[in-house]
Amino acid sequence: MVKKCSSCGKEVMFKYAEFSCPQCSGEKIVRCESCRSLASNYSCSKCGFKGP
Ligand SMILES: [Zn+2]
Ligand SMILES: [Zn+2]
Repeated sequence: MVKKCSSCGKEVMFKYAEFSCPQCSGEKIVRCESCRSLASNYSCSKCGFKGP
């Protein structure tokens, strides 16, 4: 199964961060390395939570 970055939508394979949504805990947020270093915003597709 392919994981996709929650910020840019790019497929991630090795270097990425994955964590549960801080608000609803029901959705996994995935961030690729470049979005992490750029501190791009992400949003939860479930509850709409936005965070850096
Ligand atoms: Zn990304
Ligand atoms: Zn959420």
